[in-house]
Amino acid sequence: MAERINKVTIIGSGPAGYTAAIYAARANLAPVVFAGGPAEDDPQRVPGGQLMITNDVENYPGFPESITGPELMERFKKQAERFGAEIYMENVVNVDLKRRPFYVQGESRECRSETVIIATGASAQWLNVKGEDQYKNRGVSACATCDGFFFKNQDVLVVGGGDTAMEEATFLTKLVRQVVLVHRRDKLRASKIMQERAFKNPKIQFIWDSVVEEVVGDQNGMTGALIKNVKSGAVHHLPATGLFVAIGHRPNTQLFEGVLKMNAIGYLETLPDSTKTNIPGVFACGDVQDHYYRQAVTAAGTGCMAAMDAERWLTEQGKG
Ligand code: NDP
Repeated sequence: MAERINKVTIIGSGPAGYTAAIYAARANLAPVVFAGGPAEDDPQRVPGGQLMITNDVENYPGFPESITGPELMERFKKQAERFGAEIYMENVVNVDLKRRPFYVQGESRECRSETVIIATGASAQWLNVKGEDQYKNRGVSACATCDGFFFKNQDVLVVGGGDTAMEEATFLTKLVRQVVLVHRRDKLRASKIMQERAFKNPKIQFIWDSVVEEVVGDQNGMTGALIKNVKSGAVHHLPATGLFVAIGHRPNTQLFEGVLKMNAIGYLETLPDSTKTNIPGVFACGDVQDHYYRQAVTAAGTGCMAAMDAERWLTEQGKG
């Protein structure tokens, strides 16, 4: 039997992967999606991406009454299936992008493909302290743009000393009563301009040389955190109803190391104004190539771009 060669294989199932699948399916390219399964090494990495751990999504256009993250992703999936995308709920364990057709190996099946669209996303880094998991979505968040609105006029904590932490803290001051920024050293890593903006903001207070040791709360959600000074060892309780963890994201690019061009922090590099990677026929979209905007709607936008780029590339190759 002749080996089946897909026209488009998509790795990843967040807003980027499913949007790429919808567009590719409607262009008659019969896309195959490796949507992922439970990841032993990373419990945060789940099929459907980061929205699967988000409660209310209020900023995805078209849902004026808001929608839960899992429900939104279920709708993306159904829409892709409606047009014939074939979706496998399993992880990809190996790829060979050096020869065409490309090779993609899942946990229980493998395929060859003329094009590959990578939409494996990024995972927020968490503190891994007591109470953090328990109060996720009930105080603990990794995205101020997504969840800040739920903390209007409340007191919140931000952890981290990089640009993301400064940006999250500054953004939050437009909504909340007070932000306390907890950083493990006495110097910030953030760029000067972001630091100065945060220092000048009267709503931001800094606690230096300190880490969150535990998130505490009751049946209604988070009520505070135990903050430990790493120099003196002293621990005190700080009341707050929100904790924004801003200690960085890790792009899910381990499979592509040494093959696809990445920037210094591991995000896939794409050509300007396109989703093309350094390998012709391989495209990247969503958070795996965007550490800056990181929104469902921007990921969906680049997913659409990737499917269009793949379709045009296939046509140029006479395989469309
Ligand atoms: P960074 O890696 O730059 O900073 C992470 C911060 O979190 C550091 O201050 C680090 O502390 C702290 N941290 C790491 N792990 C822990 C931990 N377990 N407990 C407590 N604190 C911890 O990540 P960012 O997300 O801030 O930025 C990533 C990239 O994106 C950077 O290149 C940044 O410049 C860029 N960016 C740019 C923006 C802009 O220009 N507007 C906005 C946002 C991001 P320590 O300093 O001690 O290592």
